[in-house]
Amino acid sequence: MAYILILMRYNASDHSHSRMKINIYLGELAAYHGEDFMNMTDAKATIGIIGGSGLYEFFEGDVNEISVETEYGHPSDKISVGQMFGKQISFVPRHGKKHSLPPHKIPYTANIAALHSLGVKQIISPCAVGSLKSEIEPGHFVICDQFVDRTYGRAQTFFDGPSVAHIETADPYCAELRRLAIDSASRLGLKAHPKGTVVVVQGPRFSSTAESLWFSRMGWDLVNMTQYPEVALAAELGICYLNISVVTDYDVGVYAKHGIAPVSIDQVMAIFKQSTEKLKTLISEIIQNVPSGCACECKQRAERAKIT
Ligand SMILES: [Zn+2]
Repeated sequence: MAYILILMRYNASDHSHSRMKINIYLGELAAYHGEDFMNMTDAKATIGIIGGSGLYEFFEGDVNEISVETEYGHPSDKISVGQMFGKQISFVPRHGKKHSLPPHKIPYTANIAALHSLGVKQIISPCAVGSLKSEIEPGHFVICDQFVDRTYGRAQTFFDGPSVAHIETADPYCAELRRLAIDSASRLGLKAHPKGTVVVVQGPRFSSTAESLWFSRMGWDLVNMTQYPEVALAAELGICYLNISVVTDYDVGVYAKHGIAPVSIDQVMAIFKQSTEKLKTLISEIIQNVPSGCACECKQRAERAKIT
């Protein structure tokens, strides 16, 4: 496996995010061959994947690994850039390759800004979730259409003044990418729920039984720790954003309400492993069929949001 290391600095101070400054650190370059130099400065991607728990690498074979520095700091880890089906894809592991970042310490703004700096227009964002309903079973996928934010203290906007924007989040997820994901899952014969509401908790602790019962009584479907503010930040930059929730277990309220016995950790791990392979197949199917530009409202919505 060949790796090319690139260090880049992204300056997004004007919030148009249209210009990129690239600083190549000569000390880092010394170990590499001259012919790789052009590849480094040409690093671009139109599709971004933010890998959740269990998905720390996506590409097999040769990839470029780049370090991007943004005005919001460094992303969770180096970003891998490679090709699939003739499309330029970038991948960042949300918790870092070694899963060293808990949900409340993930640099959400830097991750989204870094992908945007590479030219990413569409983000595919899988994440592990707990189910709040007995009919949403471990091993199923859910293509979420709504979130409920229960987090606090996280940087949640690129518009922190003096530029101000109020992004609409009535329908936070890209309608076209959601349709594509639902169709792709159907073609592959995967059990995928076509919509769902995920309540995003601060973590890192799991919910108490009382909290979990409350969430399910509210009619919410899933519980997770990372969907917010990621989805809102992508929306602010006009990036189409798709969530694929991977159900790994029932949340504690389902056990209490339905008398379903908790599964063993071995079963959870087995489901998780099977789900990861299915998830990669689903993402590949989506990438193969995704159009270069979505006919959706995401970009116009970001333009409408700007006040100053
Ligand atoms: Zn869109």
